[in-house]
Amino acid sequence: MENELYDVVIIGAGPAGMGAAVYAVRAGLKTVVIDRSPLSGGQILTTYEVDNYLGLPSLSGGELSDKFREHADQLGVKFITANVQAIEETAELSKYRIHTDKSILQSKTIILATGASHSLLNVTGEKEFTGMGVSYCATCDGAFFRKRTVAVIGGGDVAVEDAIFLSKICQKVYLIHRRDQLRAVDSLQKKLFSLENVAVLWDSEVQEITGTDKVTGISLYHKKSCEQSQLDVDGVFIAVGIVPDTELCKELVEMDEKGYVIADETCTTSKKGIFAAGDIRKKQMRQIITAVADGANAVGSVQSFLNKTFCK
Ligand code: NAP
Repeated sequence: MENELYDVVIIGAGPAGMGAAVYAVRAGLKTVVIDRSPLSGGQILTTYEVDNYLGLPSLSGGELSDKFREHADQLGVKFITANVQAIEETAELSKYRIHTDKSILQSKTIILATGASHSLLNVTGEKEFTGMGVSYCATCDGAFFRKRTVAVIGGGDVAVEDAIFLSKICQKVYLIHRRDQLRAVDSLQKKLFSLENVAVLWDSEVQEITGTDKVTGISLYHKKSCEQSQLDVDGVFIAVGIVPDTELCKELVEMDEKGYVIADETCTTSKKGIFAAGDIRKKQMRQIITAVADGANAVGSVQSFLNKTFCK
């Protein structure tokens, strides 16, 4: 176990975690960020273009996260690459032990910024063909489908961004959505509808992903006409939302029925000394800018908590 006692351990190096780290170090708090990946950035690493982060338009997710990391590095933020396995509450006033696969750290407070992962579509063929035509990351796998035909499933920002990205590589892209209206932001929809090689299939549910040794098609069900059809595709990109990565804290803090940590904009959870920032928090808007803002708010709350608890 390390002897050092941190003021704050930040778990997760996505926008929320890196935002928190910058604020924590500037506030003079003894801080460390732990992430299982040496590459900081979290979900934005797989975003091909971010066009709504104030002051830095049209960067790729990778470029934006490099800028976040550079900023944190300039301020001397300490990063550790490790897998956090458990958080232990000690008998001492406000002291937690953070068990990782490499060491045990001690801290007065914790900011949970573990983000979210992609949801599964849960249809036959999805599991079987993952890596053989089924993908959850257009920027990672799009190049394998050059001049081919692919389907993107979903109607949110990620699905539409993926369809736009893939339209530049693939011959034909089908966006398959279960309703007759997209959830994605208007500017993305406008871009999507202007693309000649993208067709949107409305009110359509995927029933099965079919193939032999790799994907060859999908079976569709049209909800309004009740008709079934088969669509030939070489690849299927699934973008049907996210699930919060809260396995680590599920016994520790209160969560809603979807597994998001309940915390208001001060990021204060039901457990004293533990704060939640970014996509894991129950909130309305999950954007990079709101994740970064959560990081700042969480540090403000950490400071008040430390002042109240240790400087009476
Ligand atoms: P999302 O906004 O939750 O959209 C998920 C989409 O998948 C919805 O259109 C939903 O349909 C559909 N869907 C869900 N379950 C389905 C199922 N079983 N079968 C078929 N379709 C299904 O998720 P997201 O696009 O992954 O985005 C996640 C969050 O990140 C959002 O809050 C988004 O705004 C945010 N985001 C932010 C940025 C940024 O800051 N620049 C970029 C990308 C994403 P319905 O519409 O019918 O519910």
